[in-house]
Amino acid sequence: MRPDTEVDFTLHKHPVLAVVCPVCHADAGVWCRRPSEHAAWDLHAARKRLADQVFIDRHGASASIELTPAGWVVDPCGRAAAAQGELFHGGAS
Ligand SMILES: [Zn+2]
Repeated sequence: MRPDTEVDFTLHKHPVLAVVCPVCHADAGVWCRRPSEHAAWDLHAARKRLADQVFIDRHGASASIELTPAGWVVDPCGRAAAAQGELFHGGAS
């Protein structure tokens, strides 16, 4: 078991699914279980925070993950680019 090398944020329908949920213990790739709600729209907040931490550990704080027609793609400087994008693309309408 080497979870640090098995986490792949691009494999699943949602990047957060790459990590095991610390709340309901849903496995990687499995949506959160919420026994009290028949429709689980959302993932546990703690799982999102964990995924965020692991993602930043793995890819760096400037990386982002984008949904493309081909699936999820990690952009190594997506966060920096997005911040710049607001400056460069704002205002045109
Ligand atoms: Zn959960």
